[in-house]
Amino acid sequence: MSEKSNMTGERTKAIHAGEAPDPATGASAPNIVMSSTYVTEQVAGFSAHDLEDDAPYLYARWANPSVDMLSRKIAAMEGTEACMCFASGMAAATAIFLCSLSSGDHVVVSDVSYAGVAELVRETLPRFGIDVTLADMSDLDAVRTAMRPNTRLVHVETPVNPIVRLTDLEAVCAIARQAGAKVSCDSTFASPMATRPASVGVDYVMHSATKYIGGHGDAVGGAVAGSKADIAALNLEAGIHHGGIMSPFNAWLIARGAATLPLRMKAHEETAQAVAQFLEDHPKVTRVIYPGLESHPQHDLAKRQMHNFSGMIAFQVGDAATGQATATRMASDLEIIHYAVSLGHHRSLIFWMETAGLMESSFRLEGKQLESYRAFAGDGIFRLSVGLEDAEDLIRDLDRVL
Ligand SMILES: *Cc1c(COP(=O)(O)O)cnc(C)c1O
Repeated sequence: MSEKSNMTGERTKAIHAGEAPDPATGASAPNIVMSSTYVTEQVAGFSAHDLEDDAPYLYARWANPSVDMLSRKIAAMEGTEACMCFASGMAAATAIFLCSLSSGDHVVVSDVSYAGVAELVRETLPRFGIDVTLADMSDLDAVRTAMRPNTRLVHVETPVNPIVRLTDLEAVCAIARQAGAKVSCDSTFASPMATRPASVGVDYVMHSATKYIGGHGDAVGGAVAGSKADIAALNLEAGIHHGGIMSPFNAWLIARGAATLPLRMKAHEETAQAVAQFLEDHPKVTRVIYPGLESHPQHDLAKRQMHNFSGMIAFQVGDAATGQATATRMASDLEIIHYAVSLGHHRSLIFWMETAGLMESSFRLEGKQLESYRAFAGDGIFRLSVGLEDAEDLIRDLDRVL
């Protein structure tokens, strides 16, 4: 289906891109196509390598209409030629690494990233002969120093989970381009409403669609948006051969959530700004990190790079013991905010992340990199995903347990 030329606004795209009334029934809402196979007139065998762009649907791991609908919607929101959806955000991240890197290649990865990604690049990539350098992506000199002649990929995340530190995408893309490396960006915290990484040169824009794009905490999925050629290559290797495809039912749920993404992000931002301000003024809170606050160390970059400050806040309450005690109180006494991992849902979620524990399990930072982490997180942070409830109710809920 070709996109209509008057589909220019982001709200219109989020609702209509990728879908159209059913030609057979006139149904306004999209159908879910659950079929794993398709009746075909093609009598001979075929290989995935033979598939053309306009090939008919043959088998669900090759392509599925419901998943294609969501892919086109995300591509329209990101302003890219194409997109591929995956079974999870981790399947999307794995696809980028395994499809763009080979034995003997070097990859530069943010020294702080989603914990699953941090563990994947440390434990899995070296087993395949891929060299990994971890760099503080907020320090451009560190990124420059990390580059080598065989660097093929630079993987960033902005704002980064869980410390909400930012990366200057334009600057990192310039460094990578000069070195002949591609750039992938985990844009999960930002959502397509806050940043459009492809517009400043990012090759692979990755999302955990489980978070803001789906937005309702009821479907796991991932996506990578990029050029037609890059996405076709991902589809062939990661989709058809590795097989980590998204289910049509999840695509349908996530597309239903994606339709309201522009409206939801506006509300997430507005409520998060009020909650962040409340936290910053609270005597028990020692530090708040939110891109929309002037106190964020990279507030100027946030204003330049983000069209929406999103709904993710990190805050400290003092030392690790105080944090642990507060977390225990939150887990038992919060009435509205759920004490749970994950983020980007309409329900507010909060989780305690102690620095020492995370260093052991996921990040293993030392020296200057650990200093930078601690400058944001101290002994530990609460990661608060501000949902779509009323700001006053969230503030009252937090005030009771702080
Ligand atoms: C959750 C998350 C992931 C992983 O996504 P899943 O859908 O849980 O596999 C990757 N990156 C970030 C920033 C995330 O928050």
